[in-house]
Amino acid sequence: MSNYVYMFTEGRADMRSLLGGKGANLAEMTNLGLPVPCGMTITTEACRDYYRVGGSFPDGLREEILEKLKLVESKSGKKLGDPGDPLLVSVRSGAVFSMPGMMDTILNLGLNETTVQSVAKNTNNLRFAYDSYRRFIQMFSDVVLEIPKHEFEYILSKEKETVGVVYDQELSAQSLRNVIDKYKELVENQTGRSFPEDPLDQLFMAVEAVFRSWNNQRAIIYRNLNKISHDLGTAVNVQSMVFGNMGNDSGTGVAFSRNPSTGENILYGEYLMNAQGEDVVAGIRTPQPIAQLQQDMPEIYGQFVNIVQTLENHYKNMQDIEFTIERGKLYMLQCRNGKRTAQAAVKVAHDMVQENLIGKTEALLMVEPEQLDQLLHRQIDSSAKLTVIAKGLPASPGAASGQVVFDADKAEKIAKLGINVLMVRMETTPDDIHGIIAAEGVLTSRGGMTSHAAVVARGMGKPCVCGCESIKIDYAKQEFTVGGLTIKAGDVISIDGATGRVISGQVPMKDPELSTEYTTLLGWADEVKKLSVRANADTPEDAAKARAFGATGIGLTRTEHMFMGADRLPFVQQMILAESLEERQDALSHLLPIQENDFYGILQAMEGLPVCIRLLDPPLHEFLPSLEELLVETTKLRTSGKNAQLLTEKDSLLRKIRQLHEFNPMLGHRGCRLGITFPEIYEMQIRAIFNAAARLTKEGYTVLPEVEIPLTIDKAELIFFNDRIKTIAQEVFAAYGTSFHYSCGTMIEIPRAALLADELAEVSEFFSFGTNDLTQTCMGFSRDDAEGKFLPYYLEQKILKENPFIALDRKGVGQLMKLAVEKGRQTRPDLITGICGEHGGEPSSIVFCHQLGLDFVSCSPYRVPIARLAAAQAAV
Ligand code: ADP
Ligand code: MG
Ligand code: MG
Repeated sequence: MSNYVYMFTEGRADMRSLLGGKGANLAEMTNLGLPVPCGMTITTEACRDYYRVGGSFPDGLREEILEKLKLVESKSGKKLGDPGDPLLVSVRSGAVFSMPGMMDTILNLGLNETTVQSVAKNTNNLRFAYDSYRRFIQMFSDVVLEIPKHEFEYILSKEKETVGVVYDQELSAQSLRNVIDKYKELVENQTGRSFPEDPLDQLFMAVEAVFRSWNNQRAIIYRNLNKISHDLGTAVNVQSMVFGNMGNDSGTGVAFSRNPSTGENILYGEYLMNAQGEDVVAGIRTPQPIAQLQQDMPEIYGQFVNIVQTLENHYKNMQDIEFTIERGKLYMLQCRNGKRTAQAAVKVAHDMVQENLIGKTEALLMVEPEQLDQLLHRQIDSSAKLTVIAKGLPASPGAASGQVVFDADKAEKIAKLGINVLMVRMETTPDDIHGIIAAEGVLTSRGGMTSHAAVVARGMGKPCVCGCESIKIDYAKQEFTVGGLTIKAGDVISIDGATGRVISGQVPMKDPELSTEYTTLLGWADEVKKLSVRANADTPEDAAKARAFGATGIGLTRTEHMFMGADRLPFVQQMILAESLEERQDALSHLLPIQENDFYGILQAMEGLPVCIRLLDPPLHEFLPSLEELLVETTKLRTSGKNAQLLTEKDSLLRKIRQLHEFNPMLGHRGCRLGITFPEIYEMQIRAIFNAAARLTKEGYTVLPEVEIPLTIDKAELIFFNDRIKTIAQEVFAAYGTSFHYSCGTMIEIPRAALLADELAEVSEFFSFGTNDLTQTCMGFSRDDAEGKFLPYYLEQKILKENPFIALDRKGVGQLMKLAVEKGRQTRPDLITGICGEHGGEPSSIVFCHQLGLDFVSCSPYRVPIARLAAAQAAV
């Protein structure tokens, strides 16, 4: 028979999964010799068994509780239900992972009409006894009998009104007696039974209610949201009561060992005199700052500071502490590692190393990589008053203000005038890129956290709020409405991408300031990580930013983003629409110098570091006007009967676009398939890269260009391009009278490429896993359709544990990667391997990449610090 119940003296902090977080820490504090009221913990296993046997106490549990209760009674010198000196206890839930506010605590259990009188007599304080009793009835009824809290609150406030007082503690004993009688009446009316008088009944009912609360709706939703397993069960703590509501020498409070918002090493917290339980957080009265305790009760304050220090030294982490003072004596009721902002997390981790409390490894593990995101973006000044008009999904952090603009061209035009704009769209597509680039931020009414707008905005480090369904956009009227409010194009709004808030008007912002603690901590990360962290960057500005964030190379430059600029799009279109090779070459000759300058800028910004440049990938029709628009235009022209010349031109464009139409562009004419059919396009790009590299080399820069072929399925494709790359390199070396080192490799983003990796590696010096496409092609999911249509159901039904476009699917996609790395290294032992899909910036995927032994991960510039820390955590 296993033990279902442990005394606090029998537990330890590392027994958390059995005793729950609260129970394990109460035990640890007890064994540290701190003043903890004595008690017992009923294990999570008891809760699991409660469910296993169909919702009743498993054999032996009742007996064991009674047995341990005897020990609590003998330690405290009081007995539950004893008419002379009754023991009162709290019944507190305590899950393994803290679930704030999910399951409630019952205080003062053991009170009934008899014991309440004994308490009054022993303390010589009838008011206190009644106050405790009415609190008990209220909490018990809420948690166990499931009678809504507000019904009790109503009775209490009515009484205060009748006698003309504001605060609970101003109520007289007589008033409280009235309240108790009304409470009991309410219970009888609601349940058809009188409030339980027998303390043992009360205890067992309370324990069972805590077990049951594990599966209440709130708890289930919370666990789903936070990916906590539903099988863990909760522990229950039964602890003898101490009283903060015994008078003005008593009180209760909460404190953090350091400031949880800034990380400063200063005791932080609040307390209330003559109060119990959650009065402090409930906002009933305004609590005092903890520093005030030094004046009010200097001895207690001194003792408390010492205990806080002891706990920090012991747990080697910032503590969140609950305490109570009973008649001038201090008791500890809870401690746990405190939740903190990113800024605080970094400072605490750093400072604790400086204080010799922890080592660098512990410091690195103390900060959530994702949290760093909060530090890198412009933020709303937290002291500002805001008019929040809507709330969407917090898709990309940071705050932005600007004039509302509903289409990309306008966004670009207005931004060119130096005016800040916010793009507001139902959703965005690749056609809107130039608008997103021009805008300060993006707001969409449709789409999730991985919608186009969200992904692109995160990639650019721009704030984005998406899926904000309460705003109704009317493109024709150039306005959106939300509630009764109408916002027109040109009106200024702000968005907060960290919280999803949409705010009317301009908001005051702060630039992020990266602290020296941050720089030092990330320096430690670089010392231990094995993966190098590169960035995905398409412009010199992004490259420079990535470098400033600590990237040691570019893992992906998407050349197609360069094709979208206004100065080149006409030539790109000419290139696509060319009827002959000559015509195409004419367009390419215009594009060559433009691309060359793009590459020049990026290679220069990344001097001394590798820059991997992917040749053109997307289907060509993405660069052309949309079919629908063109149809509208031609119809207009035709009916007007004017401008026959233009109509002919547009008609031929229409034909071309129809020809280029693909049934499934994702699997269509893109990637190196374009390069095979139109080698001159890739040749132009290769020449542009090498010209830029040659110029820089002559100017004294060290450049390390890597030419990358996308969407490969066979070694023969690579041979086709390698020959051309080599020839062009020789030509460029000769023309410039210089040479530099370059390498050639491929993306691995089609299962066939992974399966034939040994052959590909014969002719490829590096592999870069394009896990966005590899996930699509491995799973046969089109990302946009999946996320909008069926993926949510897969997640809900737990067919898939996580969205594979966010966290790498280790089981399937990961297996292809593993195979490709192994096979690739068979034929080329010094093969360089990396990842450049969105997963390259996602901490759990980075851990997997570390385990695979990849050489680098590559992610958007703003995720570089996150990746550095995640890579370090994987390595320690
Ligand atoms: P939560 O998990 O919501 O924080 P707790 O179990 O910590 O709930 O209980 C809430 C509050 O109730 C505690 O902070 C403390 O003030 C009070 N409390 C709990 N147990 C006792 C006790 N044995 N004596 C006095 N107060 C208690
Ligand atoms: Mg609570
Ligand atoms: Mg608590």
